[in-house]
Amino acid sequence: MNTLISLEGIIAVAAALFTLGYIWSCGVFPYKACRSCRGQGIFRSAIFGAIRLCRRCDGTGRVLRFGRRLYNRWTRVRRAIRADRQRDRRDDHR
Ligand SMILES: [Zn+2]
Repeated sequence: MNTLISLEGIIAVAAALFTLGYIWSCGVFPYKACRSCRGQGIFRSAIFGAIRLCRRCDGTGRVLRFGRRLYNRWTRVRRAIRADRQRDRRDDHR
């Protein structure tokens, strides 16, 4: 019984640390290499060496990580809510 509680505690602490680490790393390293072009940003033709930009990353070779995409979406929603409230407040003054 006692070991089960400590095991759960260890798992909970490990999960919390992992989550905090992931959040931190998404703040410091928001991008990852594009999977389609493997971070190159271009595709090369085998015949004449012509290049084509990757459509998935628009030729940058990098895409936002999942956690950062979530954070950006949340920020946009929060900003929209705040702008909405301010507009309501301005309407009240008239
Ligand atoms: Zn790409």
